[in-house]
Amino acid sequence: MGEYENIIRELEQQKQSGTLDFASVRCAGKHHRVLLIEDDPMDASIIERSFAKQNKVSISVDHVSNMCAAIDRLQNHDYDVALVDINLPDARGAESFEQLRAFDSCLPIIVLTGQDDDDLAIRAIQCGAQDYIAKGHFTTASLIRVIRFSIERQRMVLGYLAEADNDPLTGLSNRRNLQRRYSRFLSDAQSQGRSLFVALIDLDRFKEINDTYGHCVGDVVLQRVAKEMVATISADSSIVRFGGEEFSVMITAQTIDPVRQQIETMLNRLAEMTMQIGDIEIRVTASAGLVEAGVDENWEDVFGRCDQMLYNAKASGRNRLEAMAESVLS
Ligand code: GH3
Ligand code: MG
Ligand code: MG
Ligand code: MG
Repeated sequence: MGEYENIIRELEQQKQSGTLDFASVRCAGKHHRVLLIEDDPMDASIIERSFAKQNKVSISVDHVSNMCAAIDRLQNHDYDVALVDINLPDARGAESFEQLRAFDSCLPIIVLTGQDDDDLAIRAIQCGAQDYIAKGHFTTASLIRVIRFSIERQRMVLGYLAEADNDPLTGLSNRRNLQRRYSRFLSDAQSQGRSLFVALIDLDRFKEINDTYGHCVGDVVLQRVAKEMVATISADSSIVRFGGEEFSVMITAQTIDPVRQQIETMLNRLAEMTMQIGDIEIRVTASAGLVEAGVDENWEDVFGRCDQMLYNAKASGRNRLEAMAESVLS
């Protein structure tokens, strides 16, 4: 699994459990837990001594001498930053630390390079390292500065990533990473022996609400609708603001029946809601299309079929669900 999927998965889990807090994505406090991955005992000792002789920042260091041992440590311990030698016995070059990413996608990585290895260092940055330190060319102060800046920079990057995937109006995820999310849901479903179901939900005659009460009221309606949807759908499913007044839901299940039930409950709850916005009372309904994703079916095809079901729901009277029971490909 790639670095980006891991970051998004971690942030999504935190978001769903209500524990997403950018300030604590990485420890921004004074104590820094460093994983030093360096096979040369002399180089390792120079770095450890540099830490020991300063008292500005509290640092604890665990030293391992190869990538395999580093990955072992990461399975059971938390670190705020990794210092990684670019030439290890079992991992060489800028790409080598991608293995680290697979275990902790959020971990800031600082690469330790030999002298005159600027090109290699730049490649390391392009592969996702936060910074680099040329061996023999650092002071204690610059080492500490690089560590602190790397932790902070990574914290900000993770914040930007999460923000870029968020719809500011409803707080739901937007469709930016829908394709990745779809692939992940599909492979998770398959590994659990379940199917993936995709629904598109579109508010009925929403334009009339905007035209009658104005765009600001329309915005509040969208916010309330999103909240109600989240309250109805099981926690392990995904709701995305697909477009203006259109939402997508992905749910894994053994059969379509419980999914159909969930979406119908959602539509019923929306239809029964009376929204009091200032002194205006608004009611809204929604229509939905539902399909089962085929094995290896690409997301454009699934969403295309789902859109067709949604169209059918609209054409046959709105405030209803149209489902395609069988996947076309399986
Ligand atoms: P239908 O039942 O066929 O879906 O009718 P509709 O009026 O909902 O469909 P249409 O696509 O014609 O209109 C969608 C409207 O949603 C038009 C657009 O102004 C409104 N909309 C899209 N995004 C937003 C938003 O962020 N805020 C507000 N207030 N309105 C939005
Ligand atoms: Mg080495
Ligand atoms: Mg609509
Ligand atoms: Mg629409």
